[in-house]
Amino acid sequence: MATHETKMLIIGSGPAGYTAAIYGARAGMEPIVVQGLQPGGQLTITTDVENYPGFRDVIQGPWLMQEMQAQAEHVGTRMMWDTIVEVDIANGPPYRAVGDSGDVYIGHTLVIATGAQAKWLGVPGEQELSGKGVSACATCDGFFYRGKKVAVIGGGNTAVEEALYLTNHSDDVTLIHRRGELRAEKILQDRLFAHPKITVLWNKRVDEFLGQPLQGGLKGLKLTDTVTNEVSEFACDGAFVAIGHAPATELFKGQLEMDDSGYLVVEPGTPKTARPGVFACGDVMDHTYRQAVTAAGTGCMAALDAERYLATLEFVKNEAEAVTA
Ligand code: NDP
Repeated sequence: MATHETKMLIIGSGPAGYTAAIYGARAGMEPIVVQGLQPGGQLTITTDVENYPGFRDVIQGPWLMQEMQAQAEHVGTRMMWDTIVEVDIANGPPYRAVGDSGDVYIGHTLVIATGAQAKWLGVPGEQELSGKGVSACATCDGFFYRGKKVAVIGGGNTAVEEALYLTNHSDDVTLIHRRGELRAEKILQDRLFAHPKITVLWNKRVDEFLGQPLQGGLKGLKLTDTVTNEVSEFACDGAFVAIGHAPATELFKGQLEMDDSGYLVVEPGTPKTARPGVFACGDVMDHTYRQAVTAAGTGCMAALDAERYLATLEFVKNEAEAVTA
């Protein structure tokens, strides 16, 4: 068991964490990234990526994350294959975290980039057909369903926004909801109901995703009516599960402010939390945009703010020493 000390401790290894590491390393902060259970984050479970700037051809999510990791290491980041299981925010700075390995990490600044996970229904076929017709991100994958029939499952803001977004690609979008009313904001509901390309199927539970991964992927959904119990099949080429995301903030409960959905609260327009030298970036603080490029952007902001924070501390310390000398 070892103790690792750094000017910048980054927890999480998606686009936000790796970008913070690239900026932090180039600023001489010698960052440590503790990668967590899913090194590379959500993009490692997607396939084609067409909306990350800089690549004319389709690239693969896992490849993009390997490149980001390699770039972060190349400029001087230390990558740790460990998972933080405990963090002490109250008694910092510096902040102390403990890894699954038993190693202790001391960060003079802390960048939280633990991300979020899409919630899944957990029914047969969902996992097998993920990336083969089943997705949790219309902005990422909607383009692949141009002119095809798609379904969106859920009844909150995300589901309604995904359905509206998909009308850019598909003329036949069906929102499937388990109840008879939506949870989404009224203004979004009004837009949904008025849209000529969108149909709503009420009181339907998705019990199975139908189709074979190697034989054309998703073919349809097995539905049960939640009022009558009638079972039916719904044919579609794509299905978008939009039943919410869960931010990975368990570690910080009771230590950092969170909103009602568990996302970390930051000073608007910045990655700053209420604790000095603690920054949050990427999906762990952003339930609205949730894109690789926006996560990378806020990772950059976190690193720049962390660097400024340490520089200010250094300046104040030097001034105090000059006065007492
Ligand atoms: P929500 O928790 O608001 O909604 C989840 C929806 O999925 C609900 O309609 C729920 O049904 C349904 N659902 C949950 N579990 C299941 C399941 N197992 N089977 C079938 N349906 C299920 O999540 P969102 O992602 O929509 O929103 C999260 C937060 O982010 C909210 O605060 C939202 O307002 C915010 N947001 C804001 C946006 C904006 O301002 N533009 C955009 C997107 C999100 P039921 O209603 O029956 O519980």
